[in-house]
Amino acid sequence: MQKQIIGKNGPLSWGTLTFDPLVLAGLQLPYFDIEAPLPGAKLAIIAGMHPNEVDAMEAALQLKDHFAQHLLRGSVSILPVLNMPGLFDHAEFVCPVDGKNLNFLSPGDPQGSFSQVLMHQVLHEWAKDADVFIDLHGVDLREDVAKFVMCQMTGNIELDQRTRALAHQFDADGIVEFAVEQTNNRGRATNELPWLGRHAVMAEGGANGVFDPECITFHFNGVANIAQYLGLIEKRATASKQRRNIVVSNFAKVEAPLSARLYLEVAAGDQVIAGQRLGHLKDLYGNPAGELLAPHHGLVLMVVNHPIINQGEWLISLAPLPASTP
Ligand SMILES: [Zn+2]
Repeated sequence: MQKQIIGKNGPLSWGTLTFDPLVLAGLQLPYFDIEAPLPGAKLAIIAGMHPNEVDAMEAALQLKDHFAQHLLRGSVSILPVLNMPGLFDHAEFVCPVDGKNLNFLSPGDPQGSFSQVLMHQVLHEWAKDADVFIDLHGVDLREDVAKFVMCQMTGNIELDQRTRALAHQFDADGIVEFAVEQTNNRGRATNELPWLGRHAVMAEGGANGVFDPECITFHFNGVANIAQYLGLIEKRATASKQRRNIVVSNFAKVEAPLSARLYLEVAAGDQVIAGQRLGHLKDLYGNPAGELLAPHHGLVLMVVNHPIINQGEWLISLAPLPASTP
């Protein structure tokens, strides 16, 4: 891995990052480094794994400016656009080089294809010394996402307590503390790094590839609060939590039973009860073609909001809630 410095301004330097593996030849990622004069924890922040997630990428830029001004201890490294090959194509979900979704390839594979090698380099080279890995997401095209945070529990009490405390620095609709034994949500950096003894947090929020100031602030404040929690910046005058911060231990994926038109009846952030209709389907002629029912009580974390759906497509993320949740 090599850094080619383009500019430097006080504690902030920026430039392009290139990687040694042949399969990544030609890839240049923009990076920022902020180094404080005093020792302290190191944050590694990525955005743009999904290149339409403009709020996450914008928050990464604003955080760069904030830390350049306010970092007292430690260091912050930022990759504001991980999926550069997809950026100007507006690629949805995948990296166009190999058609793989970077979000589910952790902990990476040094012998794999472009995206697998890239994830391996990012996690085990670029971020190898990071005390906390933060992955900012949300706002992709065709989807509407509640403001939520994810972290993975491992059964290591000390590690889990700190990971949980980091995740709770975000003021979220929901906080997914993935249960130790869950197996249906794997492959995100935030799922896999804790199994290697490392702290990771992932945040999601927004819709349709458009700037949403509230969403940018959600990401910004969550990361700034983590920096404050770790003693990297001075205490900020932040308001108390405004969102519900409902803690859940996993989420289920509601998939399209057939290719059809979807008429959604819920929105991201809604709480639903078991059996509630989430949406109904029509065929291409406009005839009724079925309905989507909630398999359990739950918090809607994500909905696909484009009405044309493909069989098997992941349409809704529904986090199970106890029936007694207010
Ligand atoms: Zn994403």
